[in-house]
Amino acid sequence: MKSEKLYEGKAKILYPTESQEILLTYFKDDATAFNAQKKGQIKGKGEINCTISAALFEMLGQLGIPTHYIDRPAPNQMRVKAVKILPIEVVVRNIAAGSLCRQTGLPEGKELPQPLVEFYFKKDELQDPLLTDDRLFLLELATPNQLEEIKNMAKAINKHLQEFFQDCNIILVDFKLEFGIDHTGKIILADEISPDTCRLWDAMEGDATAKILDKDRFRRDLGNVESAYQEVQQRILSQMAKNKEQS
Ligand code: UDP
Repeated sequence: MKSEKLYEGKAKILYPTESQEILLTYFKDDATAFNAQKKGQIKGKGEINCTISAALFEMLGQLGIPTHYIDRPAPNQMRVKAVKILPIEVVVRNIAAGSLCRQTGLPEGKELPQPLVEFYFKKDELQDPLLTDDRLFLLELATPNQLEEIKNMAKAINKHLQEFFQDCNIILVDFKLEFGIDHTGKIILADEISPDTCRLWDAMEGDATAKILDKDRFRRDLGNVESAYQEVQQRILSQMAKNKEQS
């Protein structure tokens, strides 16, 4: 590497490549929470999140979900299709946790009768507020057709991920997705899917705190952050290897 950065976010840096249609993403060890009020590092996170995201994007691609993933030239680097990222955080929830509990009073851990798909406005200075469909249209963040397509994709992704994580003995509590529009106008899954962007609970552990295998360990100062991320990576990779053997 390294040419001029195109963009640096909280967890990743984007570089241009020789092709206008391809970008190189570099995953950092930096960790932030609470709209970057809390900052730190999680050793090895860049490699782990890049490895996990690549594996999940590859799996979702094989299941018919279009993603921006191309390949992983180094453990912490991912080549992706260049897209225009929609400024919407799409959150899918299977179990009540986090802001859903804080804002509605639902008890943490309550299983939802059906997956809940929510949209948040990706705007740090407004603290990423929850959007209604009408607010989303008002702000021209997506058309009704695009929104419908995103909702359907988010539900399909949830179904695939839930099934896969179940095989890893991990409960997929909730997660955040970002979508982009490619040069043909098609909506594709972008960003990352990792313990930074998902709530993942160990299905085998009894204790509520011990079972947390995601960024909540960092957010809530629970310790053993690196080992939780490593555990998720290890379970995902060994389950993928098993699935490959069977196919
Ligand atoms: N999330 C994320 N980025 C954000 C906000 C949320 O990746 O900027 C993920 C978060 O890790 C969790 C899910 O989206 O898996 C739902 O987060 P929630 O709305 O409960 O927010 P929080 O309680 O983390 O503030």
